[in-house]
Amino acid sequence: RKTTKIYGSPIDIVTMESAVERFKQLLDRSSFSFVCTPNTEIVMMAKEDEELTEVLKLSDMNIPDGIGLIIASKIHRLGLVERVTGIDLMGEILKFCNYSRKSIYIFGGKPGVAKRAVHNILEKYPGIEVKGYRNGYFKKDEEKNIIENINKLSPDILFVALGAPKQEKWIYKHRKELKAKIAMGVGGCIDIWAG
Ligand code: UDP
Repeated sequence: RKTTKIYGSPIDIVTMESAVERFKQLLDRSSFSFVCTPNTEIVMMAKEDEELTEVLKLSDMNIPDGIGLIIASKIHRLGLVERVTGIDLMGEILKFCNYSRKSIYIFGGKPGVAKRAVHNILEKYPGIEVKGYRNGYFKKDEEKNIIENINKLSPDILFVALGAPKQEKWIYKHRKELKAKIAMGVGGCIDIWAG
């Protein structure tokens, strides 16, 4: 894994191809991994937010999801090659899941959004095993139940769409409880899948 630093946050030096390769490697591990998709705004936010910086430092891959990061890298010669967006990486992951029969769970979005996203994903990728989904609005006392339900289903990949940086912090906070191989924050991507 090769990373560079932008305002103190590690960003992986990846192309779409190598990001997918890294993702597959993480999926083969027995331990839990998580992937972040920071854009310029998140990196700037992390500068003032210790918790967010820690999340980015401990995550297993931070793809450069923002043209501003690529421009900063060009100016300061930080080595980034190309922009890799969360929506594109999610698409590649779903393609891979379809072909390798991996399972997913989608957590987030307004009521009905995850369901529509799942419908559209299955239409395009019928080989994916969708273990479950749930909207991203919940009270503190519902959280335990949400996690228990995810763990009962133990998907290979848990997509979390609570908006950035809430979703990244949520994954990080629960990383030792969550029974999925990989969790990834996908934000508004599920609204795009929902159409
Ligand atoms: N979201 C959610 N729970 C929340 C806040 C947001 O499920 O408490 C969902 C929201 O409905 C949307 C997604 O998170 O589907 C991404 O939100 P937003 O567009 O604000 O974030 P971004 O894509 O910029 O990270």
